[in-house]
Amino acid sequence: MGDAHREIVLQGTGVSPGVVIGPAFLITRTDVRFVERAIEADEAPREIARFEEALIATRGQLHDIQTRMEKALDRRNASIFDAHLLVVDDRSFVEEVVRGVRARKVNVEVVLQEVAARYAEALAQMGDEYLRERAADIKDVVRRILHNLAGQSLNEVGGLSEPCIVVAADLSPSDTATLRRDRVIGFATDQGSPTSHTAIMARALEIPAVVGLHNAGVRISSGDRVLVDGTTGRVVVHPSQETLDRYGSIARARETIRSRLETLRDEPARTRDGYEVDLAANIELPQDVDAVLRHGARGIGLFRSEFLFLSRSHLPDEMEQAKAYGEVAGRIAPEPVVIRTLDLGGDKFASSLQMPQEMNPYMGWRAIRFCLAQPDVFLTQLRAILRASVHRNVRIMYPMISNVDEVARAGRLLEQAKEELGREGVPFDPDVEVGVMIEVPSAALVARDLARRVKFFSIGTNDLIQYTLAVDRVNEQVTYLYEPTHPAILRLIRQTIEAARSAGIWTGVCGEMGGNPLLAPLLVGLGVDELSVSPNMAPLVKDVIRAVTFSECERLAAEALQCEAGGDVLALCRKLTEARAPEIVTLLG
Ligand code: PEP
Ligand code: MG
Repeated sequence: MGDAHREIVLQGTGVSPGVVIGPAFLITRTDVRFVERAIEADEAPREIARFEEALIATRGQLHDIQTRMEKALDRRNASIFDAHLLVVDDRSFVEEVVRGVRARKVNVEVVLQEVAARYAEALAQMGDEYLRERAADIKDVVRRILHNLAGQSLNEVGGLSEPCIVVAADLSPSDTATLRRDRVIGFATDQGSPTSHTAIMARALEIPAVVGLHNAGVRISSGDRVLVDGTTGRVVVHPSQETLDRYGSIARARETIRSRLETLRDEPARTRDGYEVDLAANIELPQDVDAVLRHGARGIGLFRSEFLFLSRSHLPDEMEQAKAYGEVAGRIAPEPVVIRTLDLGGDKFASSLQMPQEMNPYMGWRAIRFCLAQPDVFLTQLRAILRASVHRNVRIMYPMISNVDEVARAGRLLEQAKEELGREGVPFDPDVEVGVMIEVPSAALVARDLARRVKFFSIGTNDLIQYTLAVDRVNEQVTYLYEPTHPAILRLIRQTIEAARSAGIWTGVCGEMGGNPLLAPLLVGLGVDELSVSPNMAPLVKDVIRAVTFSECERLAAEALQCEAGGDVLALCRKLTEARAPEIVTLLG
């Protein structure tokens, strides 16, 4: 076999699990070519009319895609196109182009591209993932408008004729939306992060995907045989027979294990010596309840309510929120649902709210800080949650608490919401339980004082790790320092649990650490009462808990607390899981 077909292994970030093999389909952006053309002053109206026609055509196409997406997926993914429509409907953007055509006396393509480049550049500079993606939206829409000005149709992924793995520098949401599900079996892109639109859609479509490959577009040609492992983030070009055999057995083994795990759906997460842990799941939107039930989690330990506020042009009002919360509460009853109040800021921004640009958004105007400063927004949400509490299984949780004062102030607003509803004769649960997230080190350190004021704690390890270790959770450069098993983290968790126990309240963990099957026995041994995990991780965590005894979890935790390095703790955890639940270690790859 010549060099041309030598196996090449590329490593990126797996964002949607599973393994697929197929021919690559390379998408190279065919940008519309145009030349700069001087126009006479009296030609400007015709040029502007061409532009308006192209805008109308673009708007129509976007509406079409959106309708198709709504049918194929759900409202959440289709709403990504709201952002595209916002660009087409942005009066200042459109008027700047029109003014430019009149002032510069050149064809509209030239002005459009310049104005768009300025907008996109300004957004791309903002160092914020959400806004960078808005820059990608602008480029995507402008490409579409330019095609319409040229009277061309886009060379869309939808035209694929056989099942392929789509390889691209990055996929735009419209590319992703126009693909045919029976034709695209995997994605491999050079750019992108777990929160990019491609990743969001890949997960929703359950198509294995790897992003952040840097040079896949150069190393892969259309027609090359490619293997995509969305679990480990590996992409193999021209896989050798040996690789195929290895993946063949991995896939068969994973399938067998998955089928066995399915049989545990109605079983409790109970250790061999009878210690039961509440195994709940995290959700972002009401439709995620399906996955919670399918994967056998009991209740919802974290409903990230802010996702109802993203990718839309207006805030959801009280009744819309109440409907969403009520739907979740009703479907999950009698099991509980913990509704976390708005955690906007950090990397999550609602386009409908005026939120300032910050140098350090994670340390800034985020979560409870934002809510206490915007009592109208907060009160509306509290009233909506209270309305849903008639199901008697709703709990309220405040994010990013860093001191007792914030709990008191939030509590006063909750009381106000109760009084208002009471006066209006709206029914609600007067005893709705209130808890706080422990995700700022200061909260863990004053956990004793917090514990007297609330009914439960839920440890948000994603943020607790970033704030304790000073490691930005979305910065690839410092990922190597992001260590859940760092001794400082274990001590803060332990201290939080001790404080909760002395006050007679319970503690959960809802950060990703809790959903790591290798670390579940450690957390159980440290004394957590509840683990709330991504729905698809629930069967794996349950299996590990059922394979160990509580006393060995306690021994593991005691030993781990003596370790000086996070790596040593991880090694201890891995050893226990390998001994008790080797299949799960296999499944994790
Ligand atoms: C956490 O910080 O661990 C958490 C669960 O909240 P989020 O990931 O939404 O910040
Ligand atoms: Mg958090």
